[in-house]
Amino acid sequence: MKEQKSFVDNSKGCLFLVPTPIGNLDDMTFRAVKVLKEVDLVAAEDTRNTKNLLNHFEITTDLISFHEHNTASRIPELIEKMEQGTNIAQVSDAGTPSISDPGKELVKAAIKADIAVVPLPGATASTTALIASGIAPQPFYFYGFLPRKGKERTEALVDLANRMETTIIYESPYRVLKTLDDLAADFGEQRQITLARELTKLHEAFFRGSIQEAIDYYTENDPKGEFVLVIAGKPQEQVEAMTDEQIIAAVNALIEAGNKPNKAIKEIASQNDLKKQVVYNLYHNIEGKN
Ligand code: SAM
Repeated sequence: MKEQKSFVDNSKGCLFLVPTPIGNLDDMTFRAVKVLKEVDLVAAEDTRNTKNLLNHFEITTDLISFHEHNTASRIPELIEKMEQGTNIAQVSDAGTPSISDPGKELVKAAIKADIAVVPLPGATASTTALIASGIAPQPFYFYGFLPRKGKERTEALVDLANRMETTIIYESPYRVLKTLDDLAADFGEQRQITLARELTKLHEAFFRGSIQEAIDYYTENDPKGEFVLVIAGKPQEQVEAMTDEQIIAAVNALIEAGNKPNKAIKEIASQNDLKKQVVYNLYHNIEGKN
């Protein structure tokens, strides 16, 4: 094992990960502009969209498409270029690449090929919403988009509802109300939530209140624009009040979601501030009766 240094003078190119604004073009950093000007190629989620951004900053670097539908075919091509000395910057449509956006597979492939991966800090909707939410900023758990339906969605909601950390979710305006309804069922109507809408844009707005108040508000007022949901962690008193059956159900939900029993037990114990042995005994005793 060794450290991979980002800035070494070798014959290979680098992979720069470059955040772009989530609405307000003034949030582009000086360094992002400099890197996009200096690299040989920009790998973009949507080349037309990124072309507009580059034009705005008078950047003339060539573009190549890199999105979720051509990831597998494009990666070997990009890796080969970097192996031969080409410096590439990867950008997504908005915000930080790899954060609910394409990128992670390319990063993995670059690391495997011993190509330096150079991340730039910059805009992301998640922490921008978090810091203005009025809800505890740490510890926080960034989830991204919930699964759309079925068992996966149910299990994700159960898992998130039991977390003591603040949770951050991305959601489209068309699904905000449905998601709020599901949150009310699993997190409870009174759990505190902040909906951050159209961050950094003209119509930026925050709704802060209980989940039920948010449902009432967005039933009356059509949810428009982009949303981040910041949800308060499970209150300590509810954690303490969790019944044995609820603990077992929470362990089962994690197992059904693909976790090994021991990992699920450890996770639920840690979320509920219980000794692992207590949850282990509880789970296995009940299981033994079935
Ligand atoms: N990579 C991006 C980032 O770093 O935040 C996220 C991209 S993801 C495909 C798009 C989602 O991010 C939207 O559905 C919304 O939940 C959130 N989002 C992006 N821009 C936003 C904005 N200006 N205001 C609120 N939410 C935003």
